[in-house]
Amino acid sequence: MTEVQLQEFKLEPDSELRFEVESKNEKVVLEVKSGYAELFGTELVKGKPYEFHTGSKVAVFTWHGCTVELRGRTEVSYVAKETPMVVYLNVHAALEQQRVAAEQEGTRGPVTMVVGPGDVGKSTLTRLLLNYAVRMGRRPIFVDLDVGQGNISIPGTIGATLVERPASIEEGFSQQAPLVYHFGHNSPGENLELYNTIVTRLAEVVTERCENNKKASTSGVIINTCGWIKGAGYKVLTHAAQAFEVDVILVLDNERLFIELKRDMPKFVKVVYLPKSGGVVERSSAQRSEARDARIREYFYGKRTPYYPHSFDVKFSDLKIYKVGAPSLPDSCMPLGMRAEDALTRVVPAWPSPALAHRVLAVSFAAAADEDLLHTNLAGFVCVTAVDMERQTLTILSPQPRPLPNTILLLSELQYMDNH
Ligand code: ATP
Repeated sequence: MTEVQLQEFKLEPDSELRFEVESKNEKVVLEVKSGYAELFGTELVKGKPYEFHTGSKVAVFTWHGCTVELRGRTEVSYVAKETPMVVYLNVHAALEQQRVAAEQEGTRGPVTMVVGPGDVGKSTLTRLLLNYAVRMGRRPIFVDLDVGQGNISIPGTIGATLVERPASIEEGFSQQAPLVYHFGHNSPGENLELYNTIVTRLAEVVTERCENNKKASTSGVIINTCGWIKGAGYKVLTHAAQAFEVDVILVLDNERLFIELKRDMPKFVKVVYLPKSGGVVERSSAQRSEARDARIREYFYGKRTPYYPHSFDVKFSDLKIYKVGAPSLPDSCMPLGMRAEDALTRVVPAWPSPALAHRVLAVSFAAAADEDLLHTNLAGFVCVTAVDMERQTLTILSPQPRPLPNTILLLSELQYMDNH
């Protein structure tokens, strides 16, 4: 049932207030009145109003007790005393010990990967551990391999970013200069070969950056992954673990995955089983797809801080659009020395057509459309809002005014309807 009211909650130490904002165009304002509270590891400032919009699923946790006020319409709001926060804090403490040891010995800090099925709180735990690390003065690297949601960039990409301050309550981690690679689909299963190729590449670049930044290196890396854990999904996870040379794997809420990883990982990898929080909310596929749309909208229009994107026409002849993955042929039809899988990472030209309308295009930093294109990170994204076959132009939505930083674009399967 929907509740409309001003609600005040007194939270005892070690408890959390959970609430959801579901109604369309709804806004809920949260304020800490007394005591101390945090939201997924970011401290809340007393007396400061924080806004949450439709789709938000929130937990305000307190170690010492506090009073919190909610203004607006919440779908659900309740206080939970049972949370796994002490267990998560212990994980943070263990990682912190490894960082201290890395500092003393001049070695690399812990590389941690968070795995588990969908909706167990992987992204939330990643955010919590990063926030706790940065609050201790660390500068960890956040890697997001979840192409389905995209916490660093938009869905259909993987990326990494150096975390220098706690996530903002309303806008998440700062999006300054992330390292982003193009995948173009929202599940790794759409092109496993390409997915593994870019994961390997991202791991190489993250390792390189750590070599040049001692503080980041001792702080370590925290990797968020997709919720696809069976069959080929499991292989994708073990490949990522190998590529990033992980030291710790945190398995959320899936015993089978825990046992498999314990069996298959080398002995020096610590595989740890963790309970999920009872507060994590399951999302329907419609909600996931709405969340993906919202991510793309945020990329162009901003969240709390509004952005003002540009719209302009570009001639077909001024762009070079490519797609990754040629149609696959059986091995027997492939030229000598080539495997059928090689076709999946082949870069092929995509000719402009009306089918480009509403597609997201990634703007590459690559100088040429050769093999390097896959291994080169992205400058950003544009969205095609109209295709004029007569005038041979595309109308595009771009965060930046013309000209585009590069004319080499990569076609994504993702679509975005710009009806702002
Ligand atoms: P996916 O596999 O889709 O990436 P996930 O395992 O990463 O999902 P999260 O995105 O971390 O799961 O969590 C799912 C939702 O539950 C999010 O909207 C998050 O804000 C919410 N959530 C997480 N923990 C809590 C909690 N303790 N109380 C209330 N809501 C929570």
